Amino acid sequence: MDVEVRYIDDSKGNGLFAKKNFSEDSILFEESPLVCVQFSWNAEYGYKACDHCLKPLETAEENVRRLTGKTEIVLPYPELCTTNKSTITQCSGCGVEYCNADCQEKAFNQYHRTLCVQTGPLQCLNDAWKQIHYPPETGNVMLIPRILATIQQSCDKENTLNRFLKFCHRSVNDDSHLAHKLLGEKFANQISTLHSLLVQSMPHEHVSQLLSPEGFQSLLALMGTNGQGVATSPFSQWVENVPEKDLVSKLYEDMDANVGSFLDNEGVGLFETQSAANHSCLPNAEIVYRHNNSTLSLRALRDIEAGEEICISYVDECTLSSSRHSRQKELRENYLFNCNCPKCLEQADDPDVTSDEDMSDSDE
Ligand SMILES: [Zn+2]
Ligand SMILES: [Zn+2]
Ligand SMILES: [Zn+2]
Repeated sequence: MDVEVRYIDDSKGNGLFAKKNFSEDSILFEESPLVCVQFSWNAEYGYKACDHCLKPLETAEENVRRLTGKTEIVLPYPELCTTNKSTITQCSGCGVEYCNADCQEKAFNQYHRTLCVQTGPLQCLNDAWKQIHYPPETGNVMLIPRILATIQQSCDKENTLNRFLKFCHRSVNDDSHLAHKLLGEKFANQISTLHSLLVQSMPHEHVSQLLSPEGFQSLLALMGTNGQGVATSPFSQWVENVPEKDLVSKLYEDMDANVGSFLDNEGVGLFETQSAANHSCLPNAEIVYRHNNSTLSLRALRDIEAGEEICISYVDECTLSSSRHSRQKELRENYLFNCNCPKCLEQADDPDVTSDEDMSDSDE
């Protein structure tokens, strides 16, 4: 690896550092998630993705037809579509689909052997989650059974458990705050509903602590702070090499009119190296999914020197361009820290105003 995780200090904890020079646009590293799962409504609405790696299972043409609602569209350059439907496989036990036999085998050996036989009870948990968490989705409780089953199926359970526990480093009060942020107003009732459905759907061996009410809350909080969004799309992959930009804009307009901004297969994953990267409002790297599956790549936004800390942005573009006050509020509420990045320090004397755009949802 050309990057390393290093301890900074007690307030910042660890950080990610470059071990060599990187030029702008180069890839710092790539990693697969420890676990990942598609969002529940995203799957429900027909966004077809591999149950293990989220690779699209639709061709670009099928994708465009579904997202525009226009079944007669024929896309030129079918050779630019990267979906290979001939390798798709299906679990004979529960019917979930995979992009190929390799993904099916990996899923089975990592967690699916345990979860496949619990399909019925897990469906109840998924249904309860959907009633609580509407789009735009930011997490999925179904990540938790995958975490637990990964520990149960591991030959080194202690080590696997510790890899997950390394993501959690907060107090019980913080966990409750984060679970509240994730689930909203009636969170106490919702947590106990989800918790009892989870307890009913999982074997308890080796994970009884994580299945306690506190353990469950800390897993939800872990997902809230460390869960990284994953997005794949057969259409955006096709678009990259298509010369007719007018055609592309027209198709995007049609999709926007039909489904709004929900274009991608979306889910959430836990990534060990990426999770060590701290936030900056002036990030020097960004996350991309250039293989169109859950393998994450970190790309340099500018030249980075050996020894320099690698920082990403935890908030979206829109928040990043808002006032210091707005950025700090979001980071404090969702990630429990005060940002002291160069941009925030430079703007430290700015008045505490909230940007106009997020005035509407700023009262709490
Ligand atoms: Zn796959
Ligand atoms: Zn199955
Ligand atoms: Zn900042």
